[in-house]
Amino acid sequence: MARIVQKFGGTSVGDLDRIRHVATLVKAEYDRGNEVTVVPSAMAGITNGLVENVNAISRLHDTREYDAIVSTGEQVTAGLLALALQNIGVPARSWAAWQLPIRTDDMHGKARIKEIETAKLIERFGEGQVAVVAGFQGLSPQNRITTLGRGGSDTSAVALAAALNADRCDIYTDVDGVYTTDPRIVPKARKLTRITYEEMLEMASQGAKVLQTRAVELAMNQGVRLQVRSTFEDAPGTLVVDEDEIVEQQVVSGIAYSRDEAKITIVGVEDRPGIAVGIFGPLSDAGINVDMIVQNISAESGRTDMTFTVGKSDFDRASALLDEIGETINYRSIDLDDNVVKISVIGVGMRSHAGVAKQMFGALAEKGINIQVISTSEIKISILIAEEYTELALRALHTAYGLDQD
Ligand code: ADP
Ligand code: ASP
Ligand code: MG
Repeated sequence: MARIVQKFGGTSVGDLDRIRHVATLVKAEYDRGNEVTVVPSAMAGITNGLVENVNAISRLHDTREYDAIVSTGEQVTAGLLALALQNIGVPARSWAAWQLPIRTDDMHGKARIKEIETAKLIERFGEGQVAVVAGFQGLSPQNRITTLGRGGSDTSAVALAAALNADRCDIYTDVDGVYTTDPRIVPKARKLTRITYEEMLEMASQGAKVLQTRAVELAMNQGVRLQVRSTFEDAPGTLVVDEDEIVEQQVVSGIAYSRDEAKITIVGVEDRPGIAVGIFGPLSDAGINVDMIVQNISAESGRTDMTFTVGKSDFDRASALLDEIGETINYRSIDLDDNVVKISVIGVGMRSHAGVAKQMFGALAEKGINIQVISTSEIKISILIAEEYTELALRALHTAYGLDQD
């Protein structure tokens, strides 16, 4: 007998027939005598619709109400899946996050899980019941509903697997594994049989939405055995593993992109100590994550230009905040651009190989693509380019690094 967690994404539970199909995949595990926890996402498109409604009512909204609204999609699928399981003879019940509870901090919209109480689930396993836990949700210290950030059901699943000491956490989705890059954009992308936690973490944090970043982080820290596989095909998926389990290491193992970037340039800020904290302090206090940062010499002497990126969903709040602090930091103007994409090449092999950046810049230059911002880490190089070049750049880089499938 094993204890396993199965997570099903939005497309996998996209309509009632698909929910019935998912129930059969759960039943298969249950029939093997396993203790099963299932974590469904909301039906495809539902969360987007809820987010649109929130923004239509109030652009700069109260994030506690945002969470109360956008968390509802998962409650529906948890209930429907529990019913579908009961229909095929599997005892099951749904759990909203507050009923366990899954405790988080109070960073509404992107809360972090602090603790999960599993006693009730384990008691029900003893009675032969399958637990269907709504993904994406949590409970704040103030007893308000929180959500874990877009794609957060992956994190619910991994956190449950860790808390339950599960033998496996299977992430069922609409692709049959993790590919060298998004197979929907680069048809020549190759499925990876294994990927290291570290590379998966970079891929996810650089935009490969097949797994949410926090889910990978948690799996890595807690040693959760994570597998990405298809809901619709019975094919072997991708295992996320430690580095020593990878036999043949590529220099670049994957390429990720993120359209969720917006570029802000503060033109002509005074070049003096305290300016960076004067800008990034208030952004951080407002819970706005800043990603790439470049400081340039300004055309005007004694002044500097500061370019940085934030998530698109924080774009309005960030620009409103910069208007507010304009008095204190005394800049000339602000340039806003959300027509950008960030492309990142990733590989642990970069630690020991030179020339990866050169190859990247060369491949982009050959296609006439202009690079706006560059940032690097030990195992990753990211660049920001105009959004219309996304596909061209991804395909060119995929070929340049020898990742195309034969
Ligand atoms: P789910 O609803 O199941 O959580 P997501 O849409 O969040 O599914 O994630 C799966 C999608 O991730 C795929 O359909 C694919 O387009 C995209 N994706 C991006 N990068 C990759 C990659 N490197 N490998 C596989 N899928 C990727
Ligand atoms: N339904 C949520 C979203 O669309 C969570 C998830 O799918 O993982 O972001
Ligand atoms: Mg997802």
